[in-house]
Amino acid sequence: MLFPVTCPLCHSVGAAPCAACIRRLRPAGRPLPPPGVDELCCLVDYDAVGAQLIAALKYRNARRLVPWLAAALAALVPPDIRVMTWAPTTDSHRRRRGFDQAAVLARATGRRCGLPVRPLLSRLDRQSQTGRSRHERLSGPRFVGRSTDVGGPVVVIDDVVTTGATLAASAEALRHVGAARVVGVTVAHTRAGRRDASSISPRSRVLTAGEHG
Ligand SMILES: [Zn+2]
Repeated sequence: MLFPVTCPLCHSVGAAPCAACIRRLRPAGRPLPPPGVDELCCLVDYDAVGAQLIAALKYRNARRLVPWLAAALAALVPPDIRVMTWAPTTDSHRRRRGFDQAAVLARATGRRCGLPVRPLLSRLDRQSQTGRSRHERLSGPRFVGRSTDVGGPVVVIDDVVTTGATLAASAEALRHVGAARVVGVTVAHTRAGRRDASSISPRSRVLTAGEHG
């Protein structure tokens, strides 16, 4: 039996996402890179529609979005990049969802670019941000490089950049293992940068407070 493809954002039958939803997404422009990151390339603003896109990817396991996202992210990857990796999510998030959305995006984008995708980062803060003390949360995510021979420029893929703490920590770990240049490539970017969790809707609070940096 053949199931029709539906858009995970508006549920209309056709492409994922459909042309109307793509038109509703606002391009992210060129946000300032976080400390230690040489260049930051983001696809869309994390506005209401951008948040829907991320929620569809993460919380409803909308794998059908991945080919479109991979093609769009691949177009943002600078030409001098030799290897791609991702900022791993926490163990608890991966267990709950059954997958790491950043790893899925990185592998698909790497295939699209014809670049190797390697697991270059290990997450040291292994539990979810929501299960950690205030002090631990404020100290942000921590990573360590898994390889000793990361020469040249590296792309780190992530889904959303909010404060930039995740990309900054990733870049620091990658430089310790020899990365010459670190470029962050993400699906969405919060225009406000450092957002106050109390000023946003409960729905987006779930998205931002859980793990994003
Ligand atoms: Zn749609």
